[in-house]
Amino acid sequence: MKYQCVHRWAFSSWGGRLEQTEATLAPAQGHEVTLRVTHCGICHSDLHIQAGGFDMGGGKLSSLERAGTRLPVTMGHEIVGEVVEMGPDVLGLELGALVIAYPWLGCGECATCQRGDEHLCVRAARNMGIQLPGGYADLTRVPHERYLVPVGTLDPARAATFACAGITAMGAIRKLPVVTSADWVAVIGCGGVGMTAVALLSATTAARIVAIDPDPAKREAALQHGASLAFDPKEADALKTIGKACGGNIAGALDFVGAESSSALAVGLVRRAGQVVIVGLFGGEFRMALPMFPLRSLSITGSYVGGLHDLRELVALAQRVTLPQIPLDLRPLESVNQALEDLAQGRVVGRVVLQPAT
Ligand SMILES: [Zn+2]
Ligand SMILES: [Zn+2]
Repeated sequence: MKYQCVHRWAFSSWGGRLEQTEATLAPAQGHEVTLRVTHCGICHSDLHIQAGGFDMGGGKLSSLERAGTRLPVTMGHEIVGEVVEMGPDVLGLELGALVIAYPWLGCGECATCQRGDEHLCVRAARNMGIQLPGGYADLTRVPHERYLVPVGTLDPARAATFACAGITAMGAIRKLPVVTSADWVAVIGCGGVGMTAVALLSATTAARIVAIDPDPAKREAALQHGASLAFDPKEADALKTIGKACGGNIAGALDFVGAESSSALAVGLVRRAGQVVIVGLFGGEFRMALPMFPLRSLSITGSYVGGLHDLRELVALAQRVTLPQIPLDLRPLESVNQALEDLAQGRVVGRVVLQPAT
C-alpha cells in the first residue's frame, strides 16, 4: 500500500483547455481498483461536458455545475487499463489484467441501481469522466471491481470505445421494434456512435440500413460498414428522396445527432407505427403537432448510454462474431486538446482513442 502520483489532463474552468495536473492517489481501500490507463476514447459528449452543459433549446443551457459537478474535471469515459492496485476486499481480479471500466455509475443503492441500471440512477450520478476523475490520465481509480469487464481477445483500443459508443449504440438498437429484411432502419449522424450502430445493426439484424450524414467521408465509411444506402441530409428534398429510396418502409430511425433538424427528419422518415429513438445531445427543442402521435401511431423515445449488462453482452458478442470495425484514430494523450478541437470541427471519422505515454 503506497501513495501514487497521478497525472491527469483536466480543465479547471468551464470551457477551458485541458492542462496536465499532478495529484496524489491514496492507497486503494475496500473494493477500489486502480488502473494504469492504456487507452481512452474521446466522445462527442466530452465537448458538452467541457462546455459545462447542454443546449436545452430556446436559449437555455443545462448546467453540470448546478447539477453538482465540481471543478477541476478529468474527462474520459471510454477507458481500458491494466489493474495495478486492488483494495483488500477485491475478489476475482488479478494484477496485470486488462479491463474495460464501466463508467456510468450511480449511487449503487436505489432500486434502479440495484436492478442493474446504474446509468439511470434516480439519486446521484457518479460517472467516471464527469463527477469522478476519468481516463484522460495515466492512472484512474474505479470504486468497485464489479464495474470491470475483461478485454479478453479484443483489441484494447476498440474495446475502450465499447464503454460509451458501443453500449450507447446497443441501448438505442434495443429500443427498435423487431425488424426483418423487408424493413429499413435510418441511422442519422455517423460519428463514432452512429457508425458503431451501423456496424451492430448489420451484424445483429436483417434490416437494411440507410445512413444519413452531411460528411461524404462518413457516408462512405457507413456504406463500408453495412449500410445499403447513404444520403446527405442537407440536400434539397432529402426527406422525400430518402423516404422514396427506402420504399416508405423505414421502421425505425436512430437520431445520433439530437438536433432540431435531425429529430424532425427522423420523425418525417419513419412509416406509420414507426419508432424514433433520440440519442444525440446536440441540443435544441422538439416540436410536433399532437394529432400526429395518434394519427401516425408514432413512438418517440430517448436512450441514454447503456447498462453494465449491455457492456458485458457487447464484449461477449464481439468475441463471438466479427463486428464490422469502425475506423480508429490512435493518438497520444498529450494531444487531447487538438483531438477535442478536431472532433468539434467534425474532422474525425470513427473514434479517436488516446494513449498515455508508458
Ligand atoms: Zn460518451
Ligand atoms: Zn442509484
